[in-house]
Amino acid sequence: MPGDAEVLSRRRPHVLVVPFPAQGHLLPLLDFAHRLSFRHRIHLTVAVTPSNLALVSSFLASTPLAAALPLPLPDSSSPEHASDLPLGTHHVLLAVHLSGLRASLLSWARSNPDPPTVVVSDFFLGWVQLLADDLRVPRVAFYSSGAFTASVLDHLWKGALPLDPNSPVVLDPLPGSPSFPYEHVPSVVRSYVAGDPDWELVREGFLLNSRAWGAVVNSFDALERDFLEHMNHCLDHGRVWAVGPVADSGCRAEERSPEAEKILSWLGTCPPRSVVYVCFGSMYKPPPAQAAALGAALEASGARFVWAVGADVAVLPEGIEKRAGERSLVVRGWAPQVEILRHAAVGAFVTHCGWNSTLEGVAAGVVLVAWPMKADQFIDARLMVELHGAAALAAEGAAAVPDQGNLARLFADAVDESNWADMRANAGALAAAAAAAVEEGGSSWVALERMAKELK
Ligand code: UDP
Repeated sequence: MPGDAEVLSRRRPHVLVVPFPAQGHLLPLLDFAHRLSFRHRIHLTVAVTPSNLALVSSFLASTPLAAALPLPLPDSSSPEHASDLPLGTHHVLLAVHLSGLRASLLSWARSNPDPPTVVVSDFFLGWVQLLADDLRVPRVAFYSSGAFTASVLDHLWKGALPLDPNSPVVLDPLPGSPSFPYEHVPSVVRSYVAGDPDWELVREGFLLNSRAWGAVVNSFDALERDFLEHMNHCLDHGRVWAVGPVADSGCRAEERSPEAEKILSWLGTCPPRSVVYVCFGSMYKPPPAQAAALGAALEASGARFVWAVGADVAVLPEGIEKRAGERSLVVRGWAPQVEILRHAAVGAFVTHCGWNSTLEGVAAGVVLVAWPMKADQFIDARLMVELHGAAALAAEGAAAVPDQGNLARLFADAVDESNWADMRANAGALAAAAAAAVEEGGSSWVALERMAKELK
């Protein structure tokens, strides 16, 4: 793109950041933007939709060279049928409807005395490439997923669709030629309807990521080296930067709530690595049968546990909170997950393997007990269980109701140091590698330096 170098050399860098407005996408992008701005004194403008203004406030407070650009959600951004759709599917359709913001962003940039020199957007917002084209500036696609998932999605969107629901999906060109049962393929691809205008835009959006000038991935070399190399090979521009794990950059530093204080001080009373922490992310609500099996297994395991059930959990096993007593905690509402995971008392993490949770568990060095439910979670679980041997598989799928006895034994083993020696060693090694990656001179640190240098 001849305009890129010209634009970059002419002006000081000013990055327009366009996040996808869902927490699991928005927070890692802000963490990355904070690092970029704070360390390299780069000016940022972050486009924010109304519901995310509060989430952005601590980022703005800790990132002096950042400003917010509040934007109304376009009228078309709430598809009427959204409430009937699985969340991942709803997300990608929302991403397409957010392209209604392109005109407002363009007129803001054109009337700005200091227009953006680079645009960074979430990989769900492929249409931002067209905005970057309009502005004749480079775009960087930010992957809030891992490189394995990014490679799977890229391969599937470029191939023949729809997939055959009766056959496993074999991903030959990917490292290790992985194969997944049809049900474990991200639902965004399975839901694609050929010829449907919205779905064609979804596909086009993902394909536009291949035209981006660069790609930033919230991952690190030691975790996904082969898949990062694969991305580099597919994108063919040599600008794939793995800068993760980006969490804990300091831009989420808010005052601890009294509830968080209570949880952390309770953990302080527990022996090292004796607690199982259970959380299925910010959106998943276990149906009653699952919640019952899980609760019964946690109680039967004899292990101490912290179960973060979310704000509006449907059903909990009768009396579990009372019985938990001094030995365990059931947390309603928002749990301070990163701090819990990093507490010395926590030894295992029962997780749905959302990418942020996976990275947070990896960075904390706890063994993962994986129960992927949907979206990219089967891919993340595969990475941790099969490729790194740092996780045990508890169950698979949102419909699974595993045997309580087996589940209880798994939870007991997860915090019994005489078991799972290899898995614990692998988890420890990955945590050390994650810490080393973001330290000065580490692979993610160097990737961010290289990227900033190119931007400057
Ligand atoms: N999270 C948290 N407290 C909660 C639930 C979730 O801090 O009670 C955070 C968690 O630390 C992670 C994010 O929410 O950063 C969940 O993202 P992930 O990609 O794991 O799953 P998703 O919510 O997108 O399914």
